[in-house]
Amino acid sequence: MPVNGHSLIAGQQVSGENGTTFGFNPATNEQLDPAYSLITGDQLKQATTAAADAYPSFSTLDPETHAGFLEAIADNIEAIGDELIIRAGQETGLPAARMQGERARTTGQLRLFANVVRQGDFRGVRIDRELPDRAPLPRADIRQRQIPLGPVAVFGASNFPLAFSTAGGDTASALAAGCPVVFKAHNAHPGTGELVGQAVAKAVKDFGLHPGVFSLVYGPGASIGQALVADPAIKAVGFTGSQAAGIALMRTAAARPEPIPVYAEMSSLNPVFVFEGALKGDVQALAQQYVTAVTGSSGQLCTSPGLLFAPVGELGDKLAVAVGRAVSACAGQTMLTEGIAGSWNAGAEALGSAAGVSLVGQGTEGATKNAPAPTIFGTLVRDFVTNHVLHQEIFGAASLVIRYSSVEELIEAVNRLEGQLTGTLQLTEEDYATAAPLIPALEQKVGRIIVNGWPTGVEVGHAMVHGGPFPATSDSRTTSVGSLAINRFLRPVAYQSLPQELLPASLQDENPWHLNRLVNGLVEKAEATV
Ligand code: NAP
Repeated sequence: MPVNGHSLIAGQQVSGENGTTFGFNPATNEQLDPAYSLITGDQLKQATTAAADAYPSFSTLDPETHAGFLEAIADNIEAIGDELIIRAGQETGLPAARMQGERARTTGQLRLFANVVRQGDFRGVRIDRELPDRAPLPRADIRQRQIPLGPVAVFGASNFPLAFSTAGGDTASALAAGCPVVFKAHNAHPGTGELVGQAVAKAVKDFGLHPGVFSLVYGPGASIGQALVADPAIKAVGFTGSQAAGIALMRTAAARPEPIPVYAEMSSLNPVFVFEGALKGDVQALAQQYVTAVTGSSGQLCTSPGLLFAPVGELGDKLAVAVGRAVSACAGQTMLTEGIAGSWNAGAEALGSAAGVSLVGQGTEGATKNAPAPTIFGTLVRDFVTNHVLHQEIFGAASLVIRYSSVEELIEAVNRLEGQLTGTLQLTEEDYATAAPLIPALEQKVGRIIVNGWPTGVEVGHAMVHGGPFPATSDSRTTSVGSLAINRFLRPVAYQSLPQELLPASLQDENPWHLNRLVNGLVEKAEATV
């Protein structure tokens, strides 16, 4: 598939009239062809208007066509073949194996949502039947279902050019909900975005859907991204990126005449708490696992462990030495962009020069451009709880080992943390009683608690929560990974005393879509569900 350097607006290639930009290979800092033309506000309007026009038919699609459409996107992405892996690797510096894994995750997500659409529980059907003889007042027939919010603006992540970008988690969950999507391409991987955008547009066309179901637009975040979120046709936003941009979008969304929800995933330190029992086992292996989690994908994962709490004393000392040794054997890997590498350098310098912070260990710079040396720092809980600099996310391969002397100190540290995506405990049975009080404290701060694993490698399933209190995300009530993510783009509507002929299919007595329902407060299973 050729990449052309243009936006895809409602199925048409549109040459932007607002200047151009290029992709860059961060391993060499060389420009990649073609030039990408940037759209104007008027051209953006074509995309949002088409999305609004597509809503009535797309939001009422029958489940089988809807699910087939999501599966076709997955098939089309796979059909691009190696071209996608090569282009994504050139634009991000991420190795081919990582891109192949990410492609599988992307298509797996789309197929998971296809099953969610077929199974249908997300439609949330509730029926309270009429009680005409109830005293003192009769009850009307009241039925409820969830409907799609409307067109959704999605901003892709720099660090997941496939799984959190053009047809990634936010787009897949919005499309599964029945919401058209206008996708603001990330300028760090424009060609990857275009290839995937073509795959989505082909599925829209092949299924005979309204072309406004999907548009992919190229333009600067500060102008086109802002205009997209301010556009009255847009009814919700999905975003992954920096706190600064996420908060700017939250402000714009809240200031609209009609405010809309923003689901922004922003920053997280993902603390790990190591207890003494865990240090009586294979400390070298534990240290290596931690360093692997810190340095994998050059540390550019939202769940990378930025903090590790270890006890003071001999066992904790052994771990610190092993961590220092493990990280010193690591070479830097290319970061996603020159800007992100620059932010990493500034963050690591600020942390390294903070009072009470020392160096635990440092690797070597990589052979490519933008590949700084992985670095692990150390400090004590008392310095951590009093210095805000030590709480800043450093996006990339850096982490801070914090030594504690009691569980009370750990709880104090947790209480001082901002909201996080994850919290991890490394322990054995002898630590259960010591660790137990930490769990209720962690529940207040994180979206996922892990025991004896590492927070990286987020499973895409039905029970996963990839979310957490601000600033991990802008809305802690939901998740951006897993099937529950669909709920972000739905809202309940009740239908009182509507005749069968005027009810949507999902609420009719005959139950033509074979949905599970809550009838008069009792679960009624459908005869045939997937
Ligand atoms: P970013 O700067 O937040 O950009 C993300 C997207 O938002 C881009 O499409 C960008 O468009 C747009 N944008 C930026 N400023 C905007 C604004 N004021 N209004 C509207 N849209 C705006 O993130 P990034 O480039 O991916 O990475 C930069 C930093 O983000 C990293 O160093 C890291 O700290 C953080 N990050 C965190 C995570 C995580 O999962 N926690 C993931 C990725 C990045 P333009 O580029 O066209 O402006």
